[in-house]
Amino acid sequence: MNIHEYQAKSLLKTYGAPVLGGGIAYTAAEAVDAAKALGGPVWVVKAQIHAGGRGKGGGVKVVKSIDEVEDAARKMLGMQLITHQTGPDGKEVRRVYIEDGCAIAKELYLSILVDRASGRPAIIASTEGGMDIEEVAANTPEKILTLTIDPATGLMPFHQRRIGFSLGLEGDVLKKAMKVVKSLYQAFIDLDASLLEVNPLVVTKDNDVVVLDAKMSFDGNSLFRHADVRELRDESEEDEMELRAAKHELNYIRLDGSIGCMVNGAGLAMATMDIIKLSGGSPANFLDVGGGATKERVTEAFKIILSDENVEAILVNIFGGIMRCDIIAEGIITAAREVNLTVPLVVRLAGTNVELGKQMLNESGLAITAADDLNDAAVKAVAAAKGEA
Ligand code: ADP
Ligand code: MG
Repeated sequence: MNIHEYQAKSLLKTYGAPVLGGGIAYTAAEAVDAAKALGGPVWVVKAQIHAGGRGKGGGVKVVKSIDEVEDAARKMLGMQLITHQTGPDGKEVRRVYIEDGCAIAKELYLSILVDRASGRPAIIASTEGGMDIEEVAANTPEKILTLTIDPATGLMPFHQRRIGFSLGLEGDVLKKAMKVVKSLYQAFIDLDASLLEVNPLVVTKDNDVVVLDAKMSFDGNSLFRHADVRELRDESEEDEMELRAAKHELNYIRLDGSIGCMVNGAGLAMATMDIIKLSGGSPANFLDVGGGATKERVTEAFKIILSDENVEAILVNIFGGIMRCDIIAEGIITAAREVNLTVPLVVRLAGTNVELGKQMLNESGLAITAADDLNDAAVKAVAAAKGEA
């Protein structure tokens, strides 16, 4: 789960991280109030969307009067902000953050994430903050320091120092930066974050160290124990179909291909997507209907797949174990009747009650292509999506 910049900053503040004063606004009038409360003389109006690169896309504006705050807020609110992370349609700006302006001397990069390779939290630091860190990684990787932290010992002072030195800091500023690293690490661990990215972390002209941007993502499996984080969810930022799926306890991720997938088990779902690719097609989604799915859940899953207008064919790949093939068949038939199925459907069933499931599908009158095995199913689905079936 992702949260907005201003929410991340308010969480980080409770851990002692230095952030500037700011206020959130849903209207231009609220933006004016927030700016007045801050006092000025420089404010920054920042669009709050779940995507980075806002600065380059016109979502961050430095202003020097209340009138300009109002003007900038009015222009930003309601706009479709397009950045390299939003996709071509952009994201609608529904809130703006009015923040104190600061005089920047240096923009640095600092992030913490879960590193799969080492199975540990990794801290990444670079002197090249404020721009695309991906570019720095590609062109000048020597400018990036990655430190993995042993969770058994946690963050140690020598880690903090190494990071501070690698950022080219010394004296008082080094000490301040070391403290920031500590507070960010603590927040990352305590809140079960999967990512905490500060880009830029700035050194101001007064030699202060400030968290100027903050992006945080959390492990969805940990949210049950973080009511305060859960509350920060902004559903309007999330994919509508993924939200709908989550409400039915379906594990669904939307992708941009044309073959809708309904599979049970995450491993089989991954394998199904791979084999679709191998057969020259492209999956429209990842979907694991789970082991204990009911007929209702399967029906809902089917409807969600069909509501994606990129879907040209559907591949159902079920290995009936805990989930019985006849339940899947019933779900498919019910859903297909309810939603008026218009795309070809390829079904591969195996396992418990497979004969019954197949018989139900055959007798349903639906136009279903039966497949013998996974490979056959993928080839048939790809052909169907291309209109060759
Ligand atoms: P994004 O990464 O989405 O573009 P940032 O919050 O990093 O958004 O802002 C982009 C740039 O705007 C920063 O690199 C910084 O130069 C400037 N900026 C952001 N907030 C402030 C602020 N409060 N005061 C001064 N400059 C700011
Ligand atoms: Mg940034």
